[in-house]
Amino acid sequence: MTTKRIPVAGPWITQREIEYVTDAVTNAWYGNANMYHERFEKAFSACVGTIHAMALPSCTSGIHLALSAMGIGPGDEVIVPEITWIATAAPISYVGATPVFADVDPETWCLCPDSFEKAITPRTKAVITVDLYGNMVDYDRILAIAARYNLRVIEDAAEAVGARYKGKPAGSFGDVGVFSFHGSKTLTTGEGGMLVTNNTEIFNRANFLRDHGRVPGDFSFENSEVAFKYKMSSMQAALGLAQIERLDELIKRKREAFHWYSDQLSGIKGIKLNEPGPDVLATYWMVSIVWDPSFVITKRQVRDRLEAKGIDSRPFFSPLSSLQAYTHHSENRHFNSINPTSYMLREHGINLPSSLLLTESQAHQVCDCIGEIFSCK
Ligand SMILES: *Cc1c(COP(=O)(O)O)cnc(C)c1O
Repeated sequence: MTTKRIPVAGPWITQREIEYVTDAVTNAWYGNANMYHERFEKAFSACVGTIHAMALPSCTSGIHLALSAMGIGPGDEVIVPEITWIATAAPISYVGATPVFADVDPETWCLCPDSFEKAITPRTKAVITVDLYGNMVDYDRILAIAARYNLRVIEDAAEAVGARYKGKPAGSFGDVGVFSFHGSKTLTTGEGGMLVTNNTEIFNRANFLRDHGRVPGDFSFENSEVAFKYKMSSMQAALGLAQIERLDELIKRKREAFHWYSDQLSGIKGIKLNEPGPDVLATYWMVSIVWDPSFVITKRQVRDRLEAKGIDSRPFFSPLSSLQAYTHHSENRHFNSINPTSYMLREHGINLPSSLLLTESQAHQVCDCIGEIFSCK
């Protein structure tokens, strides 16, 4: 029997996306060059509930712009959670500041408020929170701490479009929120991102910095600063517009998939899914499991067993402080004892197939395999 592999992530493209992109490549030139950006940004800011939205080539560029627009640079420290994609932290180095790694909460797998507060020093200027795997941070506590120490907050909502904390949309909690539309994300433009904010000063500064230091509409070509070039193409903006018009159905799919998994896996003792807390309406970018360390099996072995059945998976993010990219930073520091939850999660967590085209029978296949793996301790 030939079985198709079950992919871990991927988009859901319909005729609407094809029509909008076709229209953009045909018509979005000359005086209409920005028509899809304007519609996409307007729809996006309405969805997140912020005054401003800026379409960008990536989420990484959004974080870079946010830090730059806030004037963060050499000598400053920025706190990030250990468990995230390196894109959250890399822009801290781009601006010459220093990343400081804090632990995550064992329940939400997002930034732990106590660990965050402990990591604050007189040099700390900002924190980047991460709404991991479509779940959300405990914003009441995190924002209260940030306010007490007068820190800027950047919300990395790359994985959480459409999620809500106490009814308020992901991306609207920080001074700046950023999103990713990479092909693996819930809403995709192939590659792309969005910066959202209610702070007009930061927005204007970011808008200046993202176009080689010129204000929109300026054609004097007399640049006053060396800056960046971070713009999205109109074809991507058209794709994004089609996707955001379908956001409700995209999220419905993600929620459905999570419930297919949780119905079957919640019966297995010692396995925890990314079940959100009572204040969070999650969007489950990636259905994830963490197993009890008492199971004598490695992450590699679990992934190999799935692989043998044609099932793709991903390892949980490794703690940033454990990456070779940050060894210079972590020298002589015992991060595994400073941030124990993150180091525990690394060994015992994976992401399960969560593409938008996942079928119920595929989810059952995955659950059956997980059931076999974890039935014998
Ligand atoms: C995907 C992702 C990013 C990076 O997004 P790009 O658009 O690839 O720059 C940043 N942070 C998190 C948490 C992500 O999952």
